[in-house]
Amino acid sequence: MILMNDFKAEPEELIRQQLAAAERVLRSGWYILGKEVKDFEASWARRCGVADAVGVANGMDAIEIGMRALGIGAGDEVITTPMTAFATVLAILRVGATPVLADIEPGTGLLSIDSVARCLSSKTRAVLLVHLYGQLPDMDAWTDFCRSRNILLLEDCAQAHLAEWNGRVAGSYGAFGAYSFYPTKNLGAVGDAGALITTDAALAERAKVIRNYGQSERYHHPEVGLNSRLDELHAAMLSERLKWLDDFTEKRRNVARQYYEQIANPQITVLDKPLQERSHVHHLFVVRCADRQRLGAHLTQAGIANLSHYPIPVHKQPPCADVRLDPAGLAAVEQHAATCLSIPCHPQMSQSDVAKVVEAVNAFH
Ligand SMILES: *Cc1c(COP(=O)(O)O)cnc(C)c1O
Repeated sequence: MILMNDFKAEPEELIRQQLAAAERVLRSGWYILGKEVKDFEASWARRCGVADAVGVANGMDAIEIGMRALGIGAGDEVITTPMTAFATVLAILRVGATPVLADIEPGTGLLSIDSVARCLSSKTRAVLLVHLYGQLPDMDAWTDFCRSRNILLLEDCAQAHLAEWNGRVAGSYGAFGAYSFYPTKNLGAVGDAGALITTDAALAERAKVIRNYGQSERYHHPEVGLNSRLDELHAAMLSERLKWLDDFTEKRRNVARQYYEQIANPQITVLDKPLQERSHVHHLFVVRCADRQRLGAHLTQAGIANLSHYPIPVHKQPPCADVRLDPAGLAAVEQHAATCLSIPCHPQMSQSDVAKVVEAVNAFH
């Protein structure tokens, strides 16, 4: 079976490095908020080209903590996409703000700027971009859009580690960028982990308070916080995995390049190629097919794993039954949800795996 992710096939050297990191933590006798977290935060911030990274328990908390640190809450509207992991919108609900859901661009699955413009109101505080499947949109356009309307730009980078727009990494454009290190993400831990990055030192400080019971110094709790810390064990292993991330990202791009070149089937639409060479890190490779279910079954039959991201858009989930949507509707989201299929695209795929996937996709009729 060609899997969506194949951790067991990772290089033995990487596995040994992670075991050594785990041993380092175990023997250090210090397991929460210590040197490993500090070191990983520093490395991740440096690699992202920002001043600060704050390690937290997971990607959803990174979004929530970032918004809370910015004072986003009850009475505020945050515009985002319904074509995302539910966690994106759940974070907005958790801070007490009101999500407003806009439509997407059919060619990429990314938020439509025209649709977001239709969703604006006097209560709009922020636009939360989701760099879906690992791709950055034209970040200059979004920066201008938000600046001219005096609203915050926020980035959900859970799928977009090291994606770049004009040489700047995902998460460095917004007030904060929220990262998930869930195991299947491009940089994944062996459990739950996350971080937010920012160029705003005060925001980083506030996020560090919020992640640790709202504690400013020992026994002082100036605000209502969370328990959302990144563990030393995860941080140590993430530091090792980070050393491999550029290489793994190139491998993903190489798989994607072959799919763009070789997938040719009139019944299947490949999403648009990225606008810039480095603007996409191919967390997922997504095709669209009118008979998605039959294509999925055909691939499974051929020994190729596949999934849909995402078959039920956020506005169809019960907690979001009453949220405000683009008044023009969400036609592109509905169409995408009904037709999208993700095929294997990960760094451990061999040349013959890629060839098998191409062959099976092209043989579908
Ligand atoms: C995975 C993911 C999240 C949530 O991250 P967790 O670490 O699982 O909390 C949020 N947004 C997007 C787009 C994701 O893919």
